[in-house]
Amino acid sequence: MRFWGVRGSIAVPGAQTQRYGGNTSCVELQVAGQGTLVIDAGTGIRALGREIFSRPERDVTVLFTHFHLDHVFGFPFFAALFAPSFRVNVVAPTFRPEATRDRLGRYLNGVLHPLRVHELSASIDYGSCRPGRSFERGGYRVTPVQLNHPGGSCGYVIEGGGKKVAHLTDTSPLSRPGEGLAGGGRPTGRELEVINAMRGADYVAMDTMFSDEEEYLEKMTWGHGYPQYAAALCREAEVRCLGLFHHAPDATDDDLDRLGDRWSAGLDGMRVVVAREGEDVDLSG
Ligand SMILES: [Zn+2]
Ligand SMILES: [Zn+2]
Repeated sequence: MRFWGVRGSIAVPGAQTQRYGGNTSCVELQVAGQGTLVIDAGTGIRALGREIFSRPERDVTVLFTHFHLDHVFGFPFFAALFAPSFRVNVVAPTFRPEATRDRLGRYLNGVLHPLRVHELSASIDYGSCRPGRSFERGGYRVTPVQLNHPGGSCGYVIEGGGKKVAHLTDTSPLSRPGEGLAGGGRPTGRELEVINAMRGADYVAMDTMFSDEEEYLEKMTWGHGYPQYAAALCREAEVRCLGLFHHAPDATDDDLDRLGDRWSAGLDGMRVVVAREGEDVDLSG
């Protein structure tokens, strides 16, 4: 697994974000001998597009969590879309495959971007998915799960090569303040759906844009989470490693170092790390 972008909301290049990276959401999964699977096309996907040409395989699957700009902005800068030799599967949480194409077409419409969605030259298959209905793509088994975000967001549990990872962004806690795991109690039904889908995962990247519950309560309508909640949810699901993800644009490298220090002991045997752009996570061990 490689993180090509770990930032939330807007890309933030600069001296303060050099070490953890300023590009927005883009994560790549690769199992030897299988195609590449990418989650979200934030600005980080541009660098992946440059690298992908040096690889032999020409099959790519791109899963979208939702269509907020920080997760789609990089899409028309993903070079594979302009190479007729590439076959790109695009899947998003919509009701019909054409809706996935239409949603992207609102951005690639000749106004917000010079190209229109039908002008991409790769062979592109558009697909739709629904929470709770697993499907296979490019050799991976994918289970979409419903998250808690304005306008909706879809998390993904992905199995391949004998490993299991989950990507849960963008999302508020799945229970209301004071209830379920957010209230320090037993998980609610909605939490259990996600917990059961990702149980025993090797790695879970989860939205922790806010620093703590207090900040979350101030900005509840934004649809993001905080580390204590992510850790409680992942611990309950017996996850091996939690990667804190979707960092706030204002979080500096030093802030994220401090965050990592605070969680360096993990939680009841579960590792907790701060996701960093450019980082390769080797899950083969
Ligand atoms: Zn986002
Ligand atoms: Zn969002």
